[in-house]
Amino acid sequence: MTLALYDTWTRSLRPFDPIRPGQAGLYCCGPTVYDYAHIGNLRTYVFEDVLRRVLALNGYDVRHVVNITDVGHLVSDADDGEDKMEKGSRRTGESAWAIAERYTAAFMDDWRALNLLEPSIWCRATDHLAEQIDFIATLERNGYTYRTADGIYFDTSKQDDYGYLARLDHAGLQRGKRVAMGEKRHATDFALWKFSPSDAKRQMEWESPWGRGFPGWHIECSAMSAKYLSPWFDIHCGGEDHVAVHHSNEIAQTQACHGTRLANFWMHGRFLTTADDAKMSKSAGDFLRMQTLIERGFDPLAYRYLCLTAHYRSELRFSFDALDAAQAALARLRKAYSSWPEGGAADEDFVARFRVEVDQDLNLPRALAVLWELVRSDLPPAVRRPTVDRLDAVLGLRLAAWRAQDEAIPAEIGELLFQREAARAAKNWALADRLRETLRRLGWRVDDSASGQRSTRCGDGA
Ligand code: AMP
Ligand code: ZN
Repeated sequence: MTLALYDTWTRSLRPFDPIRPGQAGLYCCGPTVYDYAHIGNLRTYVFEDVLRRVLALNGYDVRHVVNITDVGHLVSDADDGEDKMEKGSRRTGESAWAIAERYTAAFMDDWRALNLLEPSIWCRATDHLAEQIDFIATLERNGYTYRTADGIYFDTSKQDDYGYLARLDHAGLQRGKRVAMGEKRHATDFALWKFSPSDAKRQMEWESPWGRGFPGWHIECSAMSAKYLSPWFDIHCGGEDHVAVHHSNEIAQTQACHGTRLANFWMHGRFLTTADDAKMSKSAGDFLRMQTLIERGFDPLAYRYLCLTAHYRSELRFSFDALDAAQAALARLRKAYSSWPEGGAADEDFVARFRVEVDQDLNLPRALAVLWELVRSDLPPAVRRPTVDRLDAVLGLRLAAWRAQDEAIPAEIGELLFQREAARAAKNWALADRLRETLRRLGWRVDDSASGQRSTRCGDGA
């Protein structure tokens, strides 16, 4: 059995062949922490988590690095406009440093709620200024940079194969010049270092050999992956939007600095979409996040299950109906699993069949079909349980940790929920709101949906 992964660089499935025997270096572009993560972002992290678990299933010792972009990601990919962090700061009235802290913490909550494995290394861009400045200095020495009034830029015309990952059409781009050029020499050139404005103080700025300012967004990933993995490592991941700009620029920088194209495999997850696409864009301001789902009574692991129902290279169209179905499927799975006794040995045939599917470029929809066949099989229950445990090491649904009483609603809470339902039926919104607040103080969150109110435990109450 061999693990085959789809590589965006070659646009083909390739057998995974590690650079160092038995090890797998994995770098995943992390969140830009100027706002909460939306559930689209989280789909990409679920795909990467499954990849990591499949690598582990294949016996690799995975070194998993995830960065936190807390500076330098501009509102526009064309390197003009405001830094997203400073914009977030204006929106919330808090300092850029405070919002980075807050949204990083919220992101970690989502990470844990989805049962994503803790990376080997979390690294923040603002903790790695020296590495980024050194990297840019080498690019300068190697002749890849030029200076404009607002920063130091990477000259993409120096590389014949710039943009190969995205199969960019240079000639077309140059002719079209659809991007704001400023003093850039070529449409695809990008900022390595941006100067602070002379008439205003930025909240996040540092001294550098070129003047006070801040690093461009792409340089952090080239610099930190080189530090924590090496300039040539196994797999680099992200969402599909990163192919054309961010990852193409990471490759250009690393090639110019170290002479390698950074990663042996480039893997990209297709987007989660909604019927109303605005709901899936942080910059649109109004979007669905994990907390929104929890407030509507959904278990974060139901969202994880939903992600597993689509191949990571297929678009997944989100709807609450689909999430309802995923939650129902997860409930059936938990119920079946918790009725089985412990003490048997796993059925290796089922484990092997599951592995064939996940080893074929993470075919999770087919792997889930194997899981359900196992659940419904006539294997002894004491065999089904340890077999499902082996599968769940990849699926990450925490079936063994689930306890039926976790979802039981205490009588007192049930009574309050009943009263609130009656208040809603009588259109007594003020009473319904008061009861919601009482429930919140008792540690239960309640939210309204088309099919009625949903309740979920949200802590110890306050
Ligand atoms: P960001 O916080 O915007 O830097 O994005 C974090 C990760 O989410 C990146 O890997 C993006 O490619 C990915 N991403 C952004 N939007 C979506 C979406 N709608 N569906 C799936 N992944 C996304
Ligand atoms: Zn990156």
